[in-house]
Amino acid sequence: MADLVPYHDRDGQIWLDGKLVPWRDAKLHVLTHALHYASAVFEGERAYSGEIFKLTEHTQRLVEGARTLDFEIPYSVAEIDAACRDVVKANGLVDCYVRPIAWRGSEQMGVSAQQSKIHLAIAAWSWGSYFDPAERLRGIRMTHAKYRRPDPLTAPAKTKAAGLYMICTLEKHRAEAQGYADALMLDWRGHVAECTGANIFLVKDGALHTPTPDCFLDGITRRTVIGLAKSRDIPVHERTIMPDELSSFSECFIVGTAAEVTPVREIGEHNYQPGRISETLLTDYMAKVGAKV
Ligand code: PMP
Repeated sequence: MADLVPYHDRDGQIWLDGKLVPWRDAKLHVLTHALHYASAVFEGERAYSGEIFKLTEHTQRLVEGARTLDFEIPYSVAEIDAACRDVVKANGLVDCYVRPIAWRGSEQMGVSAQQSKIHLAIAAWSWGSYFDPAERLRGIRMTHAKYRRPDPLTAPAKTKAAGLYMICTLEKHRAEAQGYADALMLDWRGHVAECTGANIFLVKDGALHTPTPDCFLDGITRRTVIGLAKSRDIPVHERTIMPDELSSFSECFIVGTAAEVTPVREIGEHNYQPGRISETLLTDYMAKVGAKV
């Protein structure tokens, strides 16, 4: 922990409300609506060899997520795409993570914030494997989460709204405190849903099984992996998966922009052996994004 370089104190440039500013100047006031009321939505993107993978899909999701939170980002998708590319270039990055975030400002402090200004910032930084690279290829160990993904009638469950990550941080911390890398979350009905920052796939008899994304993020990586599986003639079943089925699968892996394709060797009492299908899709995904495994 001693050598942590805090994110507010780094060199580089951040795009803030229309222009690049020195990294340390990209600040906001403590009386910002988003900080108190979670009126913020963000993206997580990765650039490989200088190109942001599926950039426009990420930007569209950001803009639509903001609309779901009842605000309009004051930039077009094309302008946001260009700004993301500018940030990568201005920081001299080639392989990196990109984090756009849109939020309600400080004009009003209270639940109502109809007059608040909408801000957009985009930062980028070098970021290697989301999980310990040694552990990643052997498969990570996951535990079971206590909190559940909410009913879409309870929260805007299918967006990357900041507020939805409150339970993800709690579960990730609880998992890490017990020596696990992540936690499997069920949804509000008790169906298998996803992890704290990635979607899940399970393998049985040569076929992929993944939960239907009706109350959690239908990840861009998830959709990419489904496409890769189909082009290999691996059958894909998007369906309700119950927790008591977890022992019936042979392989498991999780997918997301940050996690990429990460095999899982354990979910609580269930053990998996990262095998042919996980390895094939991991290799195919890394080839598709233009990265090396
Ligand atoms: N679920 C959650 C909760 C996430 O945070 C992420 C990462 N954005 C994903 C799934 C995977 O989404 P994507 O593949 O679009 O990164």
